[in-house]
Parts: sequence; C-alpha cells; structure tokens
Amino acid sequence: MAKRRRIYEGKSKDLFEGPEPGTIVQHFRDDVTAHNNKKQGVITGKGVLNNRISEYLMLRLHDIGVPTHLIRRLNMREQLVREVEIIPIQLVIRNTVAGSMATRFGIDEGTPLPRSIVEYYWKSDEFGDPIVSEEHITAFGWAAPQDIDDMLALALRINDYLAGLFFGAGLKLVDFKLEFGRNYDENGDMRIVVADEISPDTCRLWDVETRKKLDKDRFRQDLGNVAEAYQEVARRLGVLPTSGPGDVAESKTVQ
Ligand code: UDP
Repeated sequence: MAKRRRIYEGKSKDLFEGPEPGTIVQHFRDDVTAHNNKKQGVITGKGVLNNRISEYLMLRLHDIGVPTHLIRRLNMREQLVREVEIIPIQLVIRNTVAGSMATRFGIDEGTPLPRSIVEYYWKSDEFGDPIVSEEHITAFGWAAPQDIDDMLALALRINDYLAGLFFGAGLKLVDFKLEFGRNYDENGDMRIVVADEISPDTCRLWDVETRKKLDKDRFRQDLGNVAEAYQEVARRLGVLPTSGPGDVAESKTVQ
C-alpha cells in the first residue's frame, strides 16, 4: 500500500490525507498530555476507545441534525472525516464547576451552575490557550459574528442532548470542549460543523451516584486506573470493542 501523507501531528491524534479530495483520515493515538503539554503519558488502548466513543457521540448528534465532520469509522483507530477549515477557538460548556473554573473563581468543584456557561479559548499552544471574549474573536478575525452565533446555538443543543444521553448511562456531563470547522459544499456554500473529537479526553464525566471521575482528570490528577475509566465510559455507552489482543486488553498508564 502506498504510504499515506501525514498532514498534521497533534498531541493525541494524527491527520492523514484521505482517499478522496476533501476527506481526511483521523488517527487516534494512545498519547495523552495535560497542563499545557507539561505532563505527558501513554494510556494503552485510549486511542481505540476514543475512536469508538467519539464515533458514537458524533453519530448520535447526526441523528438529531447536528452536522459533524464524521463520515465513517474506518478501523480500530481511524475515522474518515470531512476536510474542514478549523476555527481556532475551543468552546467550553460547563454545567457544574470543575477544573479551571474552580481554580479561577475559588468555587468548590461539584457546585452546580444555575445555568450552563459557555466560554471561548483561543487555540494557541504558544500562549497556553487563553480565555477570550466574542470581541477578541471578531476583532482578531478568528470567526465572524454569524459563525459565533452558529457555534453557540449548536453548542447549547449539543449540551442539552449529550447531558441527557450521558445521564441515561449513569454519567454526569460536568463540562466539555467542542471544536468547529467550516465545511464548503460543491456550490461553495459554507456551514459550521462539529470537528475534532468528543471523548473522555475532552469531557468531564462523573458517575452520577458516586461522583467518581471517569475522564482525563484521572490522568491530570494522578488518580490511577485511567484506562479502566475510559473503558467504563465505553461500556456504559455500549461501544466497548471486544476484538481481543492488540485491542484494549491489559491497559496500563505510563508517564
Ligand atoms: N478541555 C479540552 N482541551 C483543552 C482544554 C480543556 O478538551 O485544551 C476540556 C476539559 O477536558 C474539560 C473542559 O474542556 O472537560 C474544561 O476544561 P478547563 O477549562 O477546566 O481546563 P483544564 O482543567 O483542562 O485546565
């Protein structure tokens, strides 16, 4: 098979040229980073699990009419996605106080928010993904006001839907991050679609009863059993791969 051209090497995923123009292959690795790249590790089997979990969630979003970049999953670690122009903004939606919101405002983790809060962060490794306002986004040309309206409307719908979906699996959706891209059809018309991934790397998920953390915070905070937590999320969503060796068996975390 001809060697594929790698377009981009990210912190936990690689992008390869797709089989047809306008397509890209997204490859999920087991690498994990936190605290702006200062903490690095490998969670064996994570890529396989995130590929499945993200595929499942994007398909469910598709079911309710939310456009995403996903075309289809290709294999254990890869999915075919539409090529999009990534908007350099991370949208964070919070339902419960945790992470940087707890630190920034001195509020106890786990405090419920009276309404969901949306925040924007500029995607910049060099500057540590600073929080920004809509004013920065439009003034610096990262997105147009209409793009922001579209992203916000989609994010709130996605939050309502996913919070319910996770609750049905005994999981509380504490907060999560979304990325969006511009996708152009053959007529040159543009629409905003959900891109990147939705997985325990990008969501905070707590067991509804015990509040046990089942997401990347287990790695960030050295809580142990990281791979097991990702497996638990996959199992509860009904997408745990079962194909045995070379898959997610004997998962361990190394740093
Ligand atoms: N998040 C993410 N990528 C990032 C930063 C945050 O996926 O580069 C997710 C994170 O997993 C959490 C939410 O966005 O679900 C809010 O993260 P927070 O601002 O609390 O930052 P952190 O605690 O990761 O520094």
